[in-house]
Amino acid sequence: MTNCLFCRIVAGELPSKKVHEDEQTFAFEDIRPQAPTHVLVVPKKHLRGLKEAGPEDVELIGRCHLVAAQIARQRGIENGYRTVLNVGPGAGQSVFHLHVHLLGGRRLDWPPG
Ligand code: 5GP
Ligand code: ZN
Repeated sequence: MTNCLFCRIVAGELPSKKVHEDEQTFAFEDIRPQAPTHVLVVPKKHLRGLKEAGPEDVELIGRCHLVAAQIARQRGIENGYRTVLNVGPGAGQSVFHLHVHLLGGRRLDWPPG
């Protein structure tokens, strides 16, 4: 999608601090980090969000989470990190290209706000 912010980041049309890339996923530093580690993992395929995903996206969504786990391992934050998918404006979704937040490197309270 040409007018999608994260599609443009994946395509290299907009700059980002890349953390990981493979055939199906792309990960980069969040521009407004909420924790010492705040990485966004996105599928290269444009998917609007979790509620728009279908059975054909099962593997892709799983992959995004496994990439987050791999980054957490590499960064030594496995004592406690969080993967978050905000779904819909009421939960704070502001970019409508599915993304998994990886947050860690500090204490994470529960429940989240
Ligand atoms: P959401 O609120 O949709 O769950 O998460 C969107 C995230 O994207 C936010 O944490 C926001 O800081 C981040 N973000 C928005 N625009 C940009 C951008 O241009 N570059 C990067 N790296 N992150 C962005
Ligand atoms: Zn997109």
